[in-house]
Amino acid sequence: MVIVMEDNATESMIIAVSERLEKFGFQVHRVNGVNRTILGAIGDKRGIDIRGFELAEGVHEVLRITEPYKLAGRTFHPENTVVTVKDAVLGSEKITVMAGPCSIESEQQLFHIAREVRTAGAKILRGGAFKPRTSPYSFQGLGVEGLKLLKQAGEEFGLATISEVMEISQVNLMLDYVDIFQVGARNMQNFSLLRELGKIKKPVMIKRGMAATIEELLMAAEYVMAGGNYNVILCERGIRTFENYTRNTLDISAIPVTHKLSHLPIIADPSHGTGLRDKVGPMARAAVAAGADGLMIEVHHEPEQALSDGAQSLYPQQFLRLMEELRMIAWAIGRELN
Ligand code: PEP
Ligand code: MN
Repeated sequence: MVIVMEDNATESMIIAVSERLEKFGFQVHRVNGVNRTILGAIGDKRGIDIRGFELAEGVHEVLRITEPYKLAGRTFHPENTVVTVKDAVLGSEKITVMAGPCSIESEQQLFHIAREVRTAGAKILRGGAFKPRTSPYSFQGLGVEGLKLLKQAGEEFGLATISEVMEISQVNLMLDYVDIFQVGARNMQNFSLLRELGKIKKPVMIKRGMAATIEELLMAAEYVMAGGNYNVILCERGIRTFENYTRNTLDISAIPVTHKLSHLPIIADPSHGTGLRDKVGPMARAAVAAGADGLMIEVHHEPEQALSDGAQSLYPQQFLRLMEELRMIAWAIGRELN
């Protein structure tokens, strides 16, 4: 980092800041300008709180020159990370679609939807077994029974599977049933859960928290990667804004911003991003046009009867048509639907 001292900073103030930097393990390079002194602090001190230096006497400004996400960032890893799961790849020129119900409700429901999304071209089957519901009285998911059905449906239709892990105690249990572990928006900063997922080998998809900055999302990925698991996928699923016509505001610009900052694949979830079925198609198309490496879309054959998120679930016919449109958009930007 670089510390710019005030014009009127005294020699003793400059020395105090230099000594403090050295105490933190930095090598200090001092540059005396005509009016100002600049201290260049050299050293890889991750996680340092720069505010302490901003408050030091005589300091004008503190500038961080490298990003705090060393493993997730592009600086030391310029080429894209490609996460491969069964037939699905995320992070290459191919665009992969994950689809399925919000919640796994029954064998009949899951198998019906799995067949439909596979026919339309999805490569990964989604379905929640442990559901993070706002109300404790809402359907909480089928738990392990749901995971068993997800695994069976994945095998039956040749689809990889993804499901949300809500707590550390579910990690080992889920290893037998899912191909990708989903960390939900509400758990994006559950650091102990992220650390635990750093110990496994299976891919982890982290959804952006409802009020999380892109840097915070990348730091969540850093937690998993710091544990040794580099198979991380990011997911833009909409953030809270003052806008109420949609459930969330899908931040399409997060896609190119993240691609520039990080080598990790990023997908978009227009279902949770908008909360309304008629907005899902337009935002899915926009996300692919903006460079998303994949999509996660909720589909239900009887959304009126769905136990969660029926209003944002596409009918299978709508999903089929959307996939055709996405194929053309992918082609227009030199990519291909997986
Ligand atoms: C989900 O994908 O089922 C879900 C609960 O999403 P989010 O964490 O983005 O709200
Ligand atoms: Mn949902």
